[in-house]
Amino acid sequence: MADDTRTFVIIGAGHASAQLCESLRRGGFAGRIVLIGEETWLPYQRPPLSKAYLLGDFARERLFVKPQSFYDDNRIELHLGYPATAIDRTAQTVTVQGAAISYDKLALLTGTRVRKLDCPGAHLAGVHYVRGIDDIDGLEPAIPTAKTAVVIGGGYIGLEAAAVLRKKGLEVTVLHRSARLLSRVASAATAAFMQKLHEEEGVHIRLNQTVRSIEGAGKVERVEIERVVVDHVAHTNRIEVPADLVVAGIGVLPNQRLASDAGLPTEDGIVVDAMCRTEDPNIFAAGDVAEHPHPPYGTLRLESVQNALDQAKACASAMLDTPEPYAATPWFWSDQFDVKFQSAGLPQGYTTEVWRAGDKPRSGSNWLYADGRLICVEAMNDPRAYMMGKRWLEAGASPNPTQIADPAIALKEVET
Ligand code: NAP
Repeated sequence: MADDTRTFVIIGAGHASAQLCESLRRGGFAGRIVLIGEETWLPYQRPPLSKAYLLGDFARERLFVKPQSFYDDNRIELHLGYPATAIDRTAQTVTVQGAAISYDKLALLTGTRVRKLDCPGAHLAGVHYVRGIDDIDGLEPAIPTAKTAVVIGGGYIGLEAAAVLRKKGLEVTVLHRSARLLSRVASAATAAFMQKLHEEEGVHIRLNQTVRSIEGAGKVERVEIERVVVDHVAHTNRIEVPADLVVAGIGVLPNQRLASDAGLPTEDGIVVDAMCRTEDPNIFAAGDVAEHPHPPYGTLRLESVQNALDQAKACASAMLDTPEPYAATPWFWSDQFDVKFQSAGLPQGYTTEVWRAGDKPRSGSNWLYADGRLICVEAMNDPRAYMMGKRWLEAGASPNPTQIADPAIALKEVET
């Protein structure tokens, strides 16, 4: 093994990349591993950025997935601070800073980038995004002197940022363009639960809003918004919301350009099979950027830590010529105020949602079924519901929805 002369190159330095390095070494790969990252940081975890790190409760050192010694001890060559700019599939090289690095196998773990606002005023000082350490380090110093904040986007990022800003004492308004919060990522009942939570905490939620412009002399002072068309009726009540700072969380876009420029198939992400293989036998992709088949949900791209870690393991297996299909049950979590949200499965294509009241305030779970089959559970301050739901999903079992709706029946007594 010690004379393995192969080079595996990994592009992207996020959560999945650190896992891939570890899995390759654990799987016995003794050749050269080169990790290329555009940011100067070692691979770090993003979930705390919009929660404890922004709140100031999480030291920067704790963000790093592995310490420097892990890369030293495992002979991982780090090329940080510069992007890979091209892949030559014939020569099997990757270009970084004008130099070519040869690979025997290449993993594209390029992740996603934030979708940017494109309205007038989007470039004013005081407009922030929440994606990387540098974003938070830019936002955090602006908070103590701000009195008002407008959060654009009511997904996880927007709501988590709103919760932190509110806890810091700001007057916070969330603007969301859809008719309900978390429109891409959670069920209707869960979105309603989260809206109530935020409103009880004093966050102003404005749905069906489009941002016309961000205004201010040199820096953000207010956001001009307009209600969008609702029920086929055009609303034109334009108003201004004062804002000392703006945080935008309007989704992310897959970093697939390197792959498409190299002629690899891309759609909403780099297209791979269940083993993280692209159509090029020497190139693989995993994590947020990988569009993969995922029964029973179809073909999708998952933006989550769970997916990054599990898919990186599958990617390592494929790179080591022992491919195993990736089929983990997706799970997510979020922290907002005193609510811990946990979900298993995906809230896509459900035909019935069944609410189960929790046994304490601000708790409960929402169970999603597609034609009688459980496909997702979303639990708020109810870890037991999350655990049971995840177990049932993994077993392909569907709990009786009538019994689920009755909190007097213990989950362990519910028939499947
Ligand atoms: P998101 O869930 O896609 O939510 C963004 C929302 O912004 C969407 O609901 C979308 O509305 C809206 N939007 C899109 N374009 C807009 C525009 N031009 N103007 C106004 N609104 C617009 O994404 P996110 O909350 O920004 O999160 C980004 C990433 O972080 C995701 O990968 C997410 O999974 C990850 N993240 C995960 C967690 C977690 O798992 N707990 C926590 C934080 C972040 P429509 O519904 O109308 O399209």
